[in-house]
Amino acid sequence: MKFWCSHAWTDGRWQADVRLETDAQGLWSRIETGVAAAQAPDAQRLGPVLPGLVNAHSHAFQRAMAGLGERLDPQAPQDDFWSWRERMYRVAAALSPQALETIATWLYTELLAQGYTQVCEFHYLHHAPDGQRYADPQAMSWALVRAAERTGMGLTLLPTLYMRAGFEGGALRPAQQRFVSTPDFIVDTCERVRAHGRQHGRQLLLQAGLALHSLRAVPPEVVREFSLRGAPGPIHIHAAEQPLEVAQCLQHLGARPVQWLLEHAGLGPHWQLVHATHIDADELAGLAASGAGVVLCPSTEANLGDGLWPLPQGLAQGVRWSIGSDSQVGRSWRGELRCLEYGQRLALQRRNIAARHGGQTSSAAALFEAALAGGSLASGLPLGGIALGQRADLQELDTDHPALLGLPVDSLLDACVFSEPGPQARRVWVAGRPVATDLMPLRADWQQLLAQLWPGARAASPSF
Ligand SMILES: [Zn+2]
Repeated sequence: MKFWCSHAWTDGRWQADVRLETDAQGLWSRIETGVAAAQAPDAQRLGPVLPGLVNAHSHAFQRAMAGLGERLDPQAPQDDFWSWRERMYRVAAALSPQALETIATWLYTELLAQGYTQVCEFHYLHHAPDGQRYADPQAMSWALVRAAERTGMGLTLLPTLYMRAGFEGGALRPAQQRFVSTPDFIVDTCERVRAHGRQHGRQLLLQAGLALHSLRAVPPEVVREFSLRGAPGPIHIHAAEQPLEVAQCLQHLGARPVQWLLEHAGLGPHWQLVHATHIDADELAGLAASGAGVVLCPSTEANLGDGLWPLPQGLAQGVRWSIGSDSQVGRSWRGELRCLEYGQRLALQRRNIAARHGGQTSSAAALFEAALAGGSLASGLPLGGIALGQRADLQELDTDHPALLGLPVDSLLDACVFSEPGPQARRVWVAGRPVATDLMPLRADWQQLLAQLWPGARAASPSF
């Protein structure tokens, strides 16, 4: 594919009159700036383009409860992460492979429309609701793979190990039975998904790694075993999202979660710690030295009342980070970056926090560049932007949108992040190919599914 763009975001800045070319695989093979449009007569003409971004943490099924978990429950007046989790379990228990495919197809199309071009799916809904294996034990994984293939979304599937109810051990609760898994099942799922990608020549679009749900759900000896075994792709783990989790980890393992992982898990650049919200200065320094990344999910963390990641300290230490949509209450990278920066501004009563610590004058640019590089690492694929050898993912900005209309090019990224309501991408390409971002053909299936999941939801408030 050949493109000519009025402007393209490369090397951390806008460049004008850019000719781009992909190879047969869908990687950038030629990038030239200062090329007049007339010199590229066979190229597709585009306006300003940004690279696609990685959504590094997604539980697709939770899209079916976005906006439906926002009422104060008189039965759980403390209303925190743990009471939200009870509601989430009730949705998780209701979904078949077909329902999961419907949800993921809808979600991935929404994410593509926003300019996300790869999603890391932290996938723990493995079995039937009663814990029985499906006839095809990977039926739920294939539902996600099919949704990615239908929509054109790149997928890093992270089959997730979930073995116990909490730090104190004990059997999984009935609501957790469909999550239960063994190391062999997780590794087998990962290998089958990789083989599927190879078989269909889709290795650049379908990656598989592993996830360990958390230190509370995976025994320490198994975490150590995985760290020794290594992994063919990235390893993700939820860590230090909640103060209670930190306290329990201290009590049972004698260390804070990130500290324990640093001391026992052999963290390196293939490790991704999701949230790492409650992290101290020593842990931040250790993470930076290890090269492991952090996946921040600012809109979900705000929604759940998790807390704020110490962005200035993280940037000062050089910790690598990416963003994720997690519970799907926010599905735009612009919103995630804005929420991340605004949380800090509110807490510190200052402006431009990311720029101050990110070596840029633009906070949007500092945030975007960090999320781009960190996302590539988290996905296990070459998704580091418009550069030679990276996957050819583009989002064309809608410069007719009121948020962008009339702005100088130099301010377009700033306005994408900090001027609301902002634009969806005008057009999106993944590995050099255009993808559909129209939800209209999917509406009937989506509405039917929601009506099944939430009977009476239109007439009254949802009863969980
Ligand atoms: Zn999560």
